[in-house]
Amino acid sequence: MRVHWHRRDLRTADNRGLAAAAGDLPDVPADGPVVPLFVFDRDVLAHAGPPRVAFMLDALDSLRTWYRERGSDLVVRHGDPREVVPAVAEAFDADAVTWGAEVSGLGRERDAAVRQALDDVDVARRSVEDALLHEPGSIRTNQGEVYSVFTYFWKKWRDREKEAPAPAPEEGDLADLDVGGLDHGDPLPTLDDLGFDEPEADVPPASTDVARDLLDAFCEGDVYDYDDRRDYPADECTSRLSAHLKFGTIGVREVHEAVREAKSAAAGADYDSAEEFESQLAWREFYHHVLWNEPGVVTENFKEYERPIEWNRDPEALRAWKDGETGYPVVDAGMRQLRREAYMHNRVRMIVASFLTKDLLIDWREGYDWFREKLVDHDTANDNGGWQWAASTGTDAQPYFRVFNPMTQGERYDPDAEYIREYVPELSDVPADAIHEWHELDQGRREMLAPEYPAPIVDHGRRREQAIDMFERSRADD
Ligand code: FAD
Repeated sequence: MRVHWHRRDLRTADNRGLAAAAGDLPDVPADGPVVPLFVFDRDVLAHAGPPRVAFMLDALDSLRTWYRERGSDLVVRHGDPREVVPAVAEAFDADAVTWGAEVSGLGRERDAAVRQALDDVDVARRSVEDALLHEPGSIRTNQGEVYSVFTYFWKKWRDREKEAPAPAPEEGDLADLDVGGLDHGDPLPTLDDLGFDEPEADVPPASTDVARDLLDAFCEGDVYDYDDRRDYPADECTSRLSAHLKFGTIGVREVHEAVREAKSAAAGADYDSAEEFESQLAWREFYHHVLWNEPGVVTENFKEYERPIEWNRDPEALRAWKDGETGYPVVDAGMRQLRREAYMHNRVRMIVASFLTKDLLIDWREGYDWFREKLVDHDTANDNGGWQWAASTGTDAQPYFRVFNPMTQGERYDPDAEYIREYVPELSDVPADAIHEWHELDQGRREMLAPEYPAPIVDHGRRREQAIDMFERSRADD
C-alpha cells in the first residue's frame, strides 16, 4: 500500500506525485494500491482567506467524488502533518508516502519535518516536483547562478524540453476503501467548521472539469488574441486559470501541452500570441524559482537599497484603497473587482499596486496582505513577485522612477471606460472622457456628473515626485 498526500495538487490527471505512488520508487518497488490523503493543517489555514478556502473545499469535494466513483475515497484528516501523515501511513500499513514538493520556505520546512517523522517510523517517502514544468533551481545561467532577469530565464525555459503530462491513476492503482461507512475519512468540513466566514465575493467553481473547459475555450480562440488584448480588462481574453494552477485542479504540463498544440497549429501573429501566453507560464516559474532561491522575499525586499525605504503610514488612505474609494476610477474598479470576484485583471493589479506604493507611498506588504486575504488565486510566489515588481523592490522590477499614471493607464487600457463602469456604478452615466479626466475636473462638475463618487484623495503629480524622492533617499550613500 502507498499513501499519496494531496496538497496543492487537487487532481488525479497529470499528477507526478500520484503517478510516482502507483509505480516504482527509487529504493522501493511498486507495492499495491494508493490511498489518497488530504490534511487540514491549521498553520497553513492561518494564512488563507475565505475565497481561497471556499475554492479549495469545492476542489476537494470534486476530487473525493472522483475517487468514490472508482470505489476508493479521499482520506481526510485534521491536524499537524508531522503526526497525521505517519499515523495514516501506519493505519494503512503503507510502505511509502508521496507528495508534490513545496517551494516556499515554510512549506519546505514542513516537508522536512514530515520526512523526518516518516523516517522515524520507517516509512519510505518521496516528494516529487509537480507544480512547475522545470524544477526550481534547474534553470541557471551558464555560470550556475539563479537568474534574476526574466528575459534570459525565459529563453532558457522556452528552449528546454518539457515533460509530457503524467497519466491519471487506473482503477486498479487505487485502494478499495469502504466509502459507504466513511470509515477512512471524515466528512469534508464547511467554511464555518474551519473558522472562516462566507466570502463576500462570488468564488468560481473548482474542479478539473472546470479547469479543462477554461483551457479548451481559451485555446480555441483567445490564445490567438492574447498578445493584443491581454492588457485590456474589459476584453476578458485571459485564461482565468490562475486559481486552478494555484490549487492544482489542472496540471501545468497539461496546460502547457494544450498551448504548445495551439502554437504548432498557428503561424505569424497567432503563433507569437500563443508564445506570449507561454511566457506568462514562464513568469510563474520565474517567481517560483526566485522564492525557492530566496525564501526571505515573502517579507523582505528582494532588492537591497542602502537605507530602509520610508514608507508612509496612512490608515485612512489604505482604507480608501481597499474599499475602492480613491477617486481614481481604474484603481477603484480593480479594488472592487477584487472584492466582488476574488480576482483582478493583471493590468489592473499592476495599476493598483503601483498606486498603493507610489501614490499613497504605502508599504507593498500592506497590499500583499490584502491580496492574500481576498484573491482566490493568491500564490505566495506570484503575488510576492507582482507586488515587489510594482514596488521597485523585486527582482527584475519596475525601476523606481517609473511611476504609472493611473489616469493615462485607465485611458489607454479601458478607453471606453467599460471595465470601470462595470465595477463603479456611480460612474455608469458619466462619459468616458470625463471619467479619464476625473482628477482634472473641478469639484462642481464632479458633483454634477457623479455626486456619489469621491474626488481624488491625492494629487498624482505631486505624489509621483514624493515617491521618487522617497526612493532616492533610500539610495543615498549617506
Ligand atoms: P493569464 O494571463 O491567462 O495567464 C496564465 C497563467 O500564467 C496565470 O494563470 C498565472 O498562473 C500565470 N501568470 C500570468 N501572469 C503572471 C505574472 N505576471 N506573474 C506570474 N504568473 C503569471 N498571479 C497569481 O497566480 N497569484 C497571485 O497571487 C498573483 N498576484 C499578483 C499580484 C500583483 C500585484 C500582480 C501585478 C500580479 C499578480 N499575479 C498573480 C499575476 C497575474 O496578475 C495573474 O496570474 C493573472 O492575472 C491571472 O489571470 P489569468 O489566469 O487569466 O492569467
